[in-house]
Amino acid sequence: MEYEVVIGLETHVQLKTKSKMWCGCANEFGAPPNTNVCPVCLGMPGVLPVANEEGLRLTTLTGYLLNCSIPRFAKFDRKNYFYPDASKNYQITQYDKPSTANGYVDFEFNGSISRVRITRAHLEEDVGKNFHFDRNSGVDFNRAGVPLLEIVSEPDITSPDMAYEYLNALVDILVYGGISDCDMEKGMVRCDVNVSVRPKGQKELGAKIEIKNMNSFSGVRKALEYEIPRQIEVVTKGGKLSQETRRWDDVANITETMRSKEQAHDYRYFPEPDLMPFEPTEAWLETVSKSVVELPLARKQRFMTDYQLPEPDAETFVNDVPLGNYFEAAVKGSKNQKAVANWVINNLRAKITEAQIPLADVKVKPTDIPELIALVDGGKINGKIAQDVFAEMFATGEAPARIVEQKGLAQVSDTGAIEKFCDEAIAANPKSVEDYKSGKIAALNSLKGQVMKLSKGKANPNLVGEILERKLKA
Ligand code: ADP
Ligand code: ZN
Ligand code: MG
Repeated sequence: MEYEVVIGLETHVQLKTKSKMWCGCANEFGAPPNTNVCPVCLGMPGVLPVANEEGLRLTTLTGYLLNCSIPRFAKFDRKNYFYPDASKNYQITQYDKPSTANGYVDFEFNGSISRVRITRAHLEEDVGKNFHFDRNSGVDFNRAGVPLLEIVSEPDITSPDMAYEYLNALVDILVYGGISDCDMEKGMVRCDVNVSVRPKGQKELGAKIEIKNMNSFSGVRKALEYEIPRQIEVVTKGGKLSQETRRWDDVANITETMRSKEQAHDYRYFPEPDLMPFEPTEAWLETVSKSVVELPLARKQRFMTDYQLPEPDAETFVNDVPLGNYFEAAVKGSKNQKAVANWVINNLRAKITEAQIPLADVKVKPTDIPELIALVDGGKINGKIAQDVFAEMFATGEAPARIVEQKGLAQVSDTGAIEKFCDEAIAANPKSVEDYKSGKIAALNSLKGQVMKLSKGKANPNLVGEILERKLKA
């Protein structure tokens, strides 16, 4: 029997706020242990949480970026459990009334666009972090109370590779939107993986196995690549799978049981009595929606269709947004869109890297790029000289036409002058002439190079080629 795989992901992402969700402590990675803490985030009795508006804003903005609806009524709930890194004995989260719901993420997969529906993205708080030393253990509460978004997908994912691409697309969107830095090394993104198998064509879902707390996307893919054949083997051999939580052992590369359904926690959710429900006004939502940015996939598609750019160029401008914006400003006045992209990607970017300056400090005006291209296309300067002109533009911010004029760089298309240079080159290089005449066509290039040199690079290279050939064939 053939089996199919069903995967749903719960992705936890730390929000990029200055302070924590319910207190004024810094939301900062890497500070000495237990230095960003206060009675609120340490869970002392009698303290009151106060919601961080930026956390609420980023949650709502995520909703917009993930095509969710934004309920006008959301609330917070307590999820009760004891764990050493959660000293309050509960986590504030959103249970039945989340801040966002029913969205989707579109992304490229296997040569087309896939869609994974988003059940909800709700706001909660991170917990502290346990450290285990040789003889004792410690808890660092710096992370406790950091705003955490849980993004729950529908079970729409059908393979480990698709899970991997979905996660990457999701993170790209969140980074683009300024929601989170999504730095995996700093633990800013973690993922619970839900996976089941069922006979192909069966409607009903198989028993859900949850693999908890994955902290890398390649780990998610690896864990799925192990877990799926394991499940298929169990059912093929006539066994029965039942709902359970497993952990990924990234040394042995296997999943193993953590707890079965019987041992599942009962979180005894109830409404958080210390926080008002969240009822955003239309005016506030309007302000938040102004921060919605163009998503990476949409940007890529737009650059490919609007400017006829090849995929790698479009991807460059998706990965480097300021450079893409510069390109858009430059391309406006140009008929040669591909040439503008080439200059921006190959020349401007190289110079920026070389000079180690931000794009904002670049002196070249975007509109000067199409002007430079027009000088080349119009035969006023050749491609080699254009490089020199560009170097000058980069150094001084001067317009290309002015540089050409001031430095006398205009291309020499005067055949009389070029004839003279050609005669000189032929006279000075009898060996090359002989080579050419005996059939070594490449010798022409060496002569051409000599002529270009004599003209200080300004001769029209096409004319040089024509005249040399004519003279050598005579
Ligand atoms: P729970 O209430 O146990 O957290 P949910 O119904 O909220 O379960 O689902 C949690 C995640 O598991 C979601 O991402 C969902 O898409 C996924 N999921 C639910 N059922 C299955 C299943 N049978 N197989 C794979 N994934 C599933
Ligand atoms: Zn605090
Ligand atoms: Mg759930």
